[in-house]
Amino acid sequence: MRPFAKQFRLKAGLQTASTMSTPLPTGRHFLQIPGPANVPDRVLRAMAQPLIDHRGPEFSELTRSILERLQIVFSTSGPVIVYPASGHGAWEAALTNTLSPGDKVLAFENGQFATKWSQVAENLRLSVDLVSGDWRRGVDNAVLAEKLASDRNHEIKAVIAVHTETSTGVTNAIGDIRSTMDRTGHPALLMVDAVSSLATTEYRHDEWAVDVTVSASQKGLLLPPGLSFNAISEKALRASEQAKLTNSYWNWKPILSFNERGFFPYTPATSLLFGLDASLGMLLEEGLENVSARHARLAEATRRAVHAWGLEVQCSESQCHANSVTGVRMPLDHDADTLRKTVLDRFNMSLGKGLGKVEGRLFRIGHLGDFNELMLAATLSGVEMGFGLTGVPHQTGGVQAALEFLVASC
Ligand code: PLP
Repeated sequence: MRPFAKQFRLKAGLQTASTMSTPLPTGRHFLQIPGPANVPDRVLRAMAQPLIDHRGPEFSELTRSILERLQIVFSTSGPVIVYPASGHGAWEAALTNTLSPGDKVLAFENGQFATKWSQVAENLRLSVDLVSGDWRRGVDNAVLAEKLASDRNHEIKAVIAVHTETSTGVTNAIGDIRSTMDRTGHPALLMVDAVSSLATTEYRHDEWAVDVTVSASQKGLLLPPGLSFNAISEKALRASEQAKLTNSYWNWKPILSFNERGFFPYTPATSLLFGLDASLGMLLEEGLENVSARHARLAEATRRAVHAWGLEVQCSESQCHANSVTGVRMPLDHDADTLRKTVLDRFNMSLGKGLGKVEGRLFRIGHLGDFNELMLAATLSGVEMGFGLTGVPHQTGGVQAALEFLVASC
């Protein structure tokens, strides 16, 4: 620190000499992890409303209006269940409502969340065939076709896939997975995790004939964590009549029955539902196509910055780049967590951690939800300054490359 600044700070009694190297955080924290993402003020204000009777007419109207608009977001005419739970709960709900002990589940190890969902299935005593992957690519449809074609007795009861793998920034083409399943004529259910893709990326539950779509509140849906979802096809509903895995809280049947009247069989998360009411309003006012286009453009600007820095994006297939998150690979012998710590300490910004087997090897830039060009410019500036401070070898000009793209695509 320059002597003048040091003297001034000591005189003003702002900091002691020992804490001076880390500035106290000022301004708004930049929460650039890939969820929980920034919650808009309109949603925060909606959540601060006084509670209402969850068995009264006002609540019933609120629920019905939310459920109707959720169908638009999931692009389905079927029911969407809302759980007061994290995404893990909705994973478990999807499996326990449709499958029986010992059923075979085909899963693809694309990243941390695909792996964790398959572990949930194993914990439930399902028999999981987890196809290994390098965490840089989408589901290999040739392997999927081969696995399904060789399953002559139709022992595989469900294929589970993550739409956007948040740990890597790889987005799977669910329409292609569906086509592959259709070509083999295999009757397995298709279950998709759209936790970090919903309301950031085009999603078509009905068109892609997804049987259960799992999602959660804390990403594109502009809410804090705490709600999660199952969108359900007719085939999945029929499967739920035969399923033998036990559940109670997750059971679709009583929830669907209560939902018809605008209620829940338990005390619902009223404040989060107020927030969801507001966030659905915002998303539909912007228009879902515009929401996806905004995310795609900010994601492309982010990748331009990464390439200009001379670094690599974790997703190695251009058709699989995610709209909501970009994984940035660190140069060898440089630790992503040291960079993240410096960026947090110096610039009051949180970047996403590398998870599981890529811990320390990459960091993640979340560019989702209530997010715009200037927020992205600041985010990338923080990263570029962080590189400078931690001695990460890079070319300057990443921020400039992103800005040029943003101007050109205005
Ligand atoms: N699936 C994906 C793709 C995720 O990104 C996450 C969390 O980030 C989850 C599932 C798990 O959700 P939760 O942490 O809300 O249980």
